[in-house]
Amino acid sequence: MKEKLQQMAEQARQTMLEAATETQLQEVRVRYLGKKGELTSLMKGIGSVAPEQRPAMGALLNELKEGLVRLFEQRLHEVREAEIQERLATERIDVTLPGRRRFTGSKHPITLVTEEIVEIFSALGFGVEEGPEIERDFFNFEALNMPKDHPARDMQDTFYVTDDVVLRTHTSPVQIRTMQKHAPPVRVIAPGTVYRRDSDLTHSPMFHQIEGFLVDRKITFGDLKGILTTFLSRFFERSIGVRFRPSFFPFTEPSAEVDIQCVNCSGTGCRVCSQSGWLEILGSGMIDPEVFKSVDYDSEVYTGFAFGMGLERMAMLKYGVDDLRLFFENDLRFLKQF
Ligand SMILES: [Zn+2]
Repeated sequence: MKEKLQQMAEQARQTMLEAATETQLQEVRVRYLGKKGELTSLMKGIGSVAPEQRPAMGALLNELKEGLVRLFEQRLHEVREAEIQERLATERIDVTLPGRRRFTGSKHPITLVTEEIVEIFSALGFGVEEGPEIERDFFNFEALNMPKDHPARDMQDTFYVTDDVVLRTHTSPVQIRTMQKHAPPVRVIAPGTVYRRDSDLTHSPMFHQIEGFLVDRKITFGDLKGILTTFLSRFFERSIGVRFRPSFFPFTEPSAEVDIQCVNCSGTGCRVCSQSGWLEILGSGMIDPEVFKSVDYDSEVYTGFAFGMGLERMAMLKYGVDDLRLFFENDLRFLKQF
């Protein structure tokens, strides 16, 4: 009996020593030391042993059990440690490997410039309006004091959809649509896409404009100068020289081209400004009373000004981009820089 016991205990020790994983080790424990384990059953059966042998037998069983429990705990510790070491070895991260850069999208420079201009004018009290890109002749030309056969229509290289429908050649039709909807005072800017049959180094058949206008009582050319001068200094983030040159637009009278001191050379003359020191930047003027007629505004009571600029040109000057086509080519090497 005693020998058989020791044999069994020896077998249990061997199996425990051989167990390579925690699962295997737990199996051995259950087999010998569990509630229905081999050693446990023997201990339960101690009643059948002759009374004089019982104490010695009990002591032996306890000794074997304690030995196995200690061995189990020691092996459990070893097996767990080995598993950790193995994971450390196989899952090790080589921190010297170059990282994988995640590509973050960025806004297109035209979008950035549009948002910035909208923000500056919003701070000056202007709201934003938009209009359709496919536009009726009436809104694109007629209501803006360009009746059929008006020579100014030829300047615009229009895409005609039908005789009466065009791809809008400027954002000015939004003026008419807004004034038809709202009585004065109005104070609006209208960014958007416009189209002209024109494509070369400095022209794209699709480009972007922003139009602004303000109508109220007693609005003067001084208000126009004040608003535009404020806007231009904020946009270029410096106090910038501005000049107004007489010009002609069918929908404003008087009209003025606005120049800023060259942002590249600060007015001393360079390649960007063709040595003139000035850059043409936007068109503006007091809204022609003829335009008010088509929207039923009383030109005896109200006056207003309007202005418009090309967003590509603003972006080129702001970011020092010298080729218009870069804005339309979707070259990520260019776009990622913004
Ligand atoms: Zn210059």
